[in-house]
Amino acid sequence: MPTTHRSTATTHTALTHPLAALVGADQHVPLVTGGTVRYANLDIAASAPALQAVADRVAEFLPYYSSVHRGAGYASAVSTAAYETARRSIGAFVGARADDVVQVVRHTTDALNLLASAVPGDVVHLDVEHHANLLPWQGLGDRARAVTARETVALTLAAVEAELARTPAALLAVTGASNVTGEILPLADLVEIAHRHGARIAIDGAQLVPHHRVHLERLGVDYLAFSGHKLYAPYGAGVLVGRRDWLDAAPPYLAGGGAVRSVTVDHTTWAPVPARHEAGTPNVVGAVALAAACEAIAALPDSELRLHEEGLRDRLLGALEALDGVRTLQLWRGEVEAIGVVTFTVDGHSAELVAQYLSAEHGVGVRDGRFCAHPLLARLNDGRTAVRASLGLGSTADDVDRLACGIAELVAHGPAWTYDGEGRPSPDPRPLPAWVTETGAGTACA
Ligand code: PLP
Repeated sequence: MPTTHRSTATTHTALTHPLAALVGADQHVPLVTGGTVRYANLDIAASAPALQAVADRVAEFLPYYSSVHRGAGYASAVSTAAYETARRSIGAFVGARADDVVQVVRHTTDALNLLASAVPGDVVHLDVEHHANLLPWQGLGDRARAVTARETVALTLAAVEAELARTPAALLAVTGASNVTGEILPLADLVEIAHRHGARIAIDGAQLVPHHRVHLERLGVDYLAFSGHKLYAPYGAGVLVGRRDWLDAAPPYLAGGGAVRSVTVDHTTWAPVPARHEAGTPNVVGAVALAAACEAIAALPDSELRLHEEGLRDRLLGALEALDGVRTLQLWRGEVEAIGVVTFTVDGHSAELVAQYLSAEHGVGVRDGRFCAHPLLARLNDGRTAVRASLGLGSTADDVDRLACGIAELVAHGPAWTYDGEGRPSPDPRPLPAWVTETGAGTACA
């Protein structure tokens, strides 16, 4: 069994800083066995709840909500200024250089597709990436080159370096933190390797940015992509931050209003970035929300955040690894830094059943599946699905203990309720809120 980094943190309580307060922190959910329990949200890596500070900023902004870059009214002026202020705040949060561009997009997937449309040469990436940092490059055909991740971080870095040395590439694209194992590759080393071989580097920061501070200028990272909904700002915006020149030279990501300098019936002169890639009405609420999240997180003490999360991660790993038949997944051997994501399997029970059981009988929300990382799950679990618990600002020792006790009970006695062939509780007496009419069962990103 490989070992990951274990912190010596001793604090396991919830973060009490007012800026860490989350909307819905005391949400109660029904159990199949009757009654309700406080929801233990251990699915933060998929989509994080809104920070209260974000919801407050959105509420403050909404009375002014109006068109951006288009209107003469006072509300339009406020909306335009709010949008551009948000761009600046987001750039400051990630240490963007003065001449970098902050492109407001929908999410990380959008950001990396935009970058793929602009990259002027070959792209090197690992074979174990999230689909968002894999499929956009696959779409480039033989300009994309996948490097097989090796058994240690050092060997993986050496393999990346060998590939870049063998044939030059324009871009090295890597995931900042794995959404499956939480493991983090050393960014500074990757930057050095990429630059030594004349490549730029793009980081898929979807999982990294909510947990670790990233400073583009200090680290030398050329591009960073991340999503508002994973950074406690679930209002539909994400960003691509980085070097301007490739994006200025690229064809507009979407053709339409707002992205142009002038248009005749048969010819268009496109605007430079960021407008060039932001055709259509911008998501100003999403941008304002994302900027508010960046400001709130920047004001939180970084070391407290890390200790909080590392302590909880160690607690969870320790509890799960002590159980017979429970296996946690890791990619690299040895001490590897990681964010608060732990993926595991339970012998004799499908991942689907384990996840449904935790929700139905313990009020614990986790994710099961292959986490939009099919090649990685093929490597770590023969392509079978697994269960992921992920921690964040609002996570508590009680959440972790509830999950661990639930799994211990499952291992010892099996579930108390009955489940159908797909692992769903049957019957399922839990009511949905009155205004929700469809069950919404589905596997959009299995
Ligand atoms: N990259 C990683 C590592 C992720 O975990 C995710 C989402 O889970 C993405 C990219 C895609 O993020 P989004 O769905 O916000 O585009």
